Amino acid sequence: MPLENMNAMLGKAAGAGYAVGAFNILDYNSTKAVVLAAEETNAPVIIQTSAKTVIFWGASAIISWIRQLAGPSRVPIALHLDHCKDLDLIEECIESGWTSVMIDASSKPFEENLSLSRKVVQMARPKNVTVEAELGAIVGVEDDIHVKQQDSHLADSDQAIKFCEDVEPDCFAPAIGTAHGVYKGVPKIAYDLLEEIAAKIEAPIALHGGTGLADNVFKKCISLGCAKVNISTQLKYAFIDGFVAYHNANNIEYNPLKVIDAQFDALKAGIVEKINLFGSSGKV
Ligand SMILES: [Zn+2]
Repeated sequence: MPLENMNAMLGKAAGAGYAVGAFNILDYNSTKAVVLAAEETNAPVIIQTSAKTVIFWGASAIISWIRQLAGPSRVPIALHLDHCKDLDLIEECIESGWTSVMIDASSKPFEENLSLSRKVVQMARPKNVTVEAELGAIVGVEDDIHVKQQDSHLADSDQAIKFCEDVEPDCFAPAIGTAHGVYKGVPKIAYDLLEEIAAKIEAPIALHGGTGLADNVFKKCISLGCAKVNISTQLKYAFIDGFVAYHNANNIEYNPLKVIDAQFDALKAGIVEKINLFGSSGKV
């Protein structure tokens, strides 16, 4: 199937109480793991690229893998640019065939975040590309965006309403207490805030900082209105650990294709498990 933007898949998910998994890929092997996991579970899926990954490989290489894998696939697939501050890179991705982009101007003052996010919506919408925008600061490290604990702040519900009315994002990422990277201690999620925002805005909500949350936390956030759940750190670990574990168990064998296969299996197993947890299996 041709790539889709996020509108139809998130709209369906938001109305039916499940979430679509958004998985950050690193290369061809991890992209294949996302697509085959989605096919195995018969689930819609969002393939995400960090800005750093796009710069590392180049947009044309990435789009060629995606088209090769998604073209023959029967599940709905969106290609989304995760946290991006750079309008030129956003434009390059839109021109190259990404079907969705995220503008992350959350570190800017409110009015500046609003105007930058609105600008990206104006760039993307005529091309049928969906836009995710963020409000508040999600703690941790995402790509090269570092937010220290003391600088993190939750989204404000009145500002969230104004932001969504003015920007009209297709997906909204409010900071609700989750963090990027690996959790140190138990995360404190502002469920009340999530519930309040979800009730007052139309856009489906994205949950960032998914890696390391307990199953019941995912389920509660999804039941309160999160229709997109981002998984990145988990895949970074599976990418490296899948490789290393195979080599450690077979360290006299230097067969790269077997190592790549072991890495693929580790990645795909984790993605299948998350798709099932988020309730999107069978929802094509
Ligand atoms: Zn994020």
